[in-house]
Amino acid sequence: MTQLDDRPASTDSFTSLNPATGEVVGTYPVHTAADVDAAVARARASASWWEGLGFEGRKEVLDQWRGVLARRVAALVDVVHRETGKPHGDAQLEAALAIDHLAWIASHAKKVLGPKKVFAGLLLANQAASVEYRPLGVVGVIGPWNYPVFTPMGSIAYALGAGNTVVFKPSELTPGVGHWLADSLREVVPGHDLLQVVTGFGETGAALCRADVDKIAFTGSTATGKRVMAACAERLTPVVIEAGGKDAMLVDEDADIEAAADAAAWGAFSNAGQTCTGIERVYVHDKVHDAFLDALTRRAREVRSGHDPAAQYGPMTMPSQLDVVRRHVDDALAKGGRAVVGGPEAVGDRFVQPTVLVDVPEDSEAVCEETFGPTVVVNRVRSMDEAIERVNVGKYGLGSSVFSASRGEEIARRLRTGMTAINSVISFAAVPGLPFGGVGDSGFGRIHGPDGLREFCYAKAVTRTRFKAPLNLTTFERTAEQDAQVATLLAVLHGRATQLPKRPLRVRRHKNL
Ligand code: NDP
Repeated sequence: MTQLDDRPASTDSFTSLNPATGEVVGTYPVHTAADVDAAVARARASASWWEGLGFEGRKEVLDQWRGVLARRVAALVDVVHRETGKPHGDAQLEAALAIDHLAWIASHAKKVLGPKKVFAGLLLANQAASVEYRPLGVVGVIGPWNYPVFTPMGSIAYALGAGNTVVFKPSELTPGVGHWLADSLREVVPGHDLLQVVTGFGETGAALCRADVDKIAFTGSTATGKRVMAACAERLTPVVIEAGGKDAMLVDEDADIEAAADAAAWGAFSNAGQTCTGIERVYVHDKVHDAFLDALTRRAREVRSGHDPAAQYGPMTMPSQLDVVRRHVDDALAKGGRAVVGGPEAVGDRFVQPTVLVDVPEDSEAVCEETFGPTVVVNRVRSMDEAIERVNVGKYGLGSSVFSASRGEEIARRLRTGMTAINSVISFAAVPGLPFGGVGDSGFGRIHGPDGLREFCYAKAVTRTRFKAPLNLTTFERTAEQDAQVATLLAVLHGRATQLPKRPLRVRRHKNL
């Protein structure tokens, strides 16, 4: 029984299916715009209660919720397994990370968002200045299916932690997971609509964008992200867009090759490659290319997709993605690339086996577009300069990974991506204190960390007059003598900053790159 089932809703319904077997997992209502509006109105009614609890009260609720999630993780994992087909171990991992983020939110929200004194400056020395971050009100969250717990919780938990209530539209492929999450929070705070779920297809998501929400947090494809922005523009509703990626790994000549190959295999094939920050291409220094390829192909041949407990990853959750994967592999081969593991025959009816492509031209779809499947392109480069250039010309800029013994940080800094893992993959997503998000077609705004909490707030600036100013600037009674004093003060405070630099500015370049 879900929280909206006993409320007036559309009579239309849809089913969620197990992508590994085709069996029906659950039936859910297709919520109409009126249903969505009603959910948002209930969320608004609960928003002032939630805000009024303050940081300490909200911490108590979020900690209790964390306990419920941790104690019942096996049940949650089972719903994720049935709706996405992913192995139980992988489902547990994403739940564990989400719970860890929840703990961080509960213990850091006050420090990050609470009032802070700010130096008022010499011109306004009579003012006490402070800033704090207030909740927006009601946040609409639209989530994808690939990590149906971890990914939407990156928005839901941070929005709640910042003092907002949430209406969540899960992917039509994973509505059961969304309901499970909302029901578990309702157990902790019955009678309050802190987190509600609306289900349906794209139209339900579009209705959420047009509803009376104060922000939309969208995670999904870039194409849908653009539609979400357009719909939100009608009401000037702000958005945070976490969209797709084409993440690269760079392997330098001094890298630990076995570790890099191990990380590339996991980054590319885990979750059937359906990871926004999955590794889809690898640029390897000429000097270690062959050794790396050998180490990666050895591993790729040991990894297998299937529905049995021994399989390392499951089916493609969204059947239509099979066509995209097939098209990218075919295009890579047609343009002169080679498949050293897998290939077109690796793409089955539900499952895709690991595929390693080499010498793939940079203008092919497998290099430029998000594949979202268990395939990886390995291309040779003469230097890390060349690798960086290839990454930075791409339209996406979500995450990246660098394997290098001595120059990891230098290379990471020059990559135009929101996140970089040095000598590992995707580790940035698991660190609660770090912001998560991309640039370019990967979207904008941040979830996770202090930035993720502030994303769901507005900054509130306050000044308080402490004593009568000797030099009152904001009065019609200001005199010519006082204007002269301002001019003198200006020269003392800022005049020297106008002097030209004594030597020309130089762009600093990192050595050896
Ligand atoms: P989609 O863009 O297809 O859908 C995302 C969500 O938007 C779903 O809930 C979907 O509903 C909903 N939706 C669809 N149309 C509209 C609309 N017009 N208005 C509002 N909402 C709408 O993405 P996927 O679910 O296929 O997820 C995969 C994508 O997500 C990949 O591109 C991946 O890279 C990206 N992603 C990005 C992450 C990040 O943090 N940057 C993390 C994880 C994934 P429905 O399913 O019912 O159609």
